[in-house]
Amino acid sequence: MTEHLDVAVIGSGFGGLTAGALAARSGLRVALFEQHTRPGGCAGDFAMDGFTFPAGATVVTGLEPGGILRRVAGIVGAAMPSVALDPSLVFHVEGRIVPYDAGHAAWRDTFGKAFPDAGPGYARFWEWVRTTGGAVYGVGRALPSLPLHSLADVRRTLRAARPGALRALPALIGTVAGAKARLGAVGSPAADALIDALLLDATGARATECSAVQGAIALDLYRRGCQWVEGGTGRLAMALVRAIRAHGGDVRFRARVLHLAPRRDGWELTFESGETVYARRVVANVPPVALAHLRGERGTPTRNSEAWGAFVLHLGIDASGLDAIHPFHQVVRATGPALEDEGNNCLVSSFPARADRWALSVSTHTRAGSWRTARASCRPSPPPGQPFSSLVSPCPSPDPRRRVLEDRLIDAVAAVIPSVRERILLRRSATPATFERFTLRPGGFVGGLIQRPSVTALRAAGHRPAGGLFLAGDHVFPGQGIVGVALSGINAYRDAIESLGRKAIL
Ligand SMILES: Cc1cc2nc3c(=O)[nH]c(=O)nc-3n(C[C@H](O)[C@H](O)[C@H](O)COP(=O)(O)OP(=O)(O)OC[C@H]3O[C@@H](n4cnc5c(N)ncnc54)[C@H](O)[C@@H]3O)c2cc1C
Repeated sequence: MTEHLDVAVIGSGFGGLTAGALAARSGLRVALFEQHTRPGGCAGDFAMDGFTFPAGATVVTGLEPGGILRRVAGIVGAAMPSVALDPSLVFHVEGRIVPYDAGHAAWRDTFGKAFPDAGPGYARFWEWVRTTGGAVYGVGRALPSLPLHSLADVRRTLRAARPGALRALPALIGTVAGAKARLGAVGSPAADALIDALLLDATGARATECSAVQGAIALDLYRRGCQWVEGGTGRLAMALVRAIRAHGGDVRFRARVLHLAPRRDGWELTFESGETVYARRVVANVPPVALAHLRGERGTPTRNSEAWGAFVLHLGIDASGLDAIHPFHQVVRATGPALEDEGNNCLVSSFPARADRWALSVSTHTRAGSWRTARASCRPSPPPGQPFSSLVSPCPSPDPRRRVLEDRLIDAVAAVIPSVRERILLRRSATPATFERFTLRPGGFVGGLIQRPSVTALRAAGHRPAGGLFLAGDHVFPGQGIVGVALSGINAYRDAIESLGRKAIL
């Protein structure tokens, strides 16, 4: 007999996990279906040879008191211990080591000393980041729903409006470069590289292209609420899985949804096994093109100009004798136009599971489409649900491009741990092809859409593709990042429960 649910969630990324946990806590009959063996998607983890590595995301924001994830955790009763970081990360720019201090006054001093050639316009720019980013943070924390496609969006967004938010309105249409030029923050290539590197990581765009509103919140958020989570983001994902189950919901792994078809006042999900499930409402935590495929449509494929792929190097190292280091280091090896080139800007994250054995993950941007050929030369795609550890193994005949990039990233790690080469116990890497197979994201695009003004806030993609069907994830408002997709999950949950005639608990 076909199982009947109130809400079915497809995918255990943080968007789906948030929606599922809130729906289960509200007393709805909920099941979350994940094709993989572990939760978290791009923010999940995998184990290999005694090391646990993050699959993608490492830096956590939103767990500070009052932060979006912290509130979700409180409401659903998920244990999410974390430690606030100050500095939030450490930059390495052209030989300069620059801690990104959390305090605004401290950061003004640090920045001034690190970049003596940066004129007073840069101080005005950081003040703009503080005030504009702070205003956007206040609105974001109050959980708006954009773009304004329905009365519910208007109601939620008006509720989130704050007097200070008016200050952020001009930022809705411009770019960060526009704000910098207006404030006179120009003329220091090294300082510009630092700003661009962080923007690229958080929004996919450097200052010239980055939406001013997204850029302000991205630069500000890192200092406002950057948290360290022991064991990484996979632990947080597992905490949400436990919360769903604790509230009577179901979470099923190795459960790949193949088809989604409308039924009377609901949807029918068909799985690889041939089993079907009926749900009155569906939250799909997948990219829009993947959802189109589930509905038997072609969809519009993501293009290289719209989103990035990621290349991630995973190293297990012998850390004996090393002093403790800050967990996050942004290594910028090129200023100027080459910043986006693979390996020129990377984030080095460390997870010291034991004093003498550390897991390091180094991520950099890459054009997803350019790896398809490399994938074709690797072994055939394994069936879905195969452990990530088997997907990150090198090809049988090592791909030279992959080896070169791994070496470049190891050089970048040497800026943080000079003796890293002699310490490597395990070396693996993941390409966009890996992410495509591991998360089923078509084309291996990760991190959502590049946050240009044309796709931000009021102009973001809608998250209601059909009646009773709601999208969560990094392709809809407010965009990429764990805290961003958690907000998309909250909005999908609120739509689902309100459409069932019930009141949302958040
Ligand atoms: C290398 C890298 C580094 C990053 N660093 C950070 C960082 O430091 N901080 C940060 O906040 N963010 C970071 N991000 C971004 C962040 O990880 C993502 O924006 C976010 O995790 C995406 O979440 P999502 O909800 O969109 O779902 P996804 O992570 O895409 O998860 C979707 C899930 O759905 C499952 N699924 C797909 N199709 C089906 C199906 N048909 N049936 C069943 N299940 C299905 C997948 O297996 C997957 O588990 C990083 C991303 C990458 C790739």
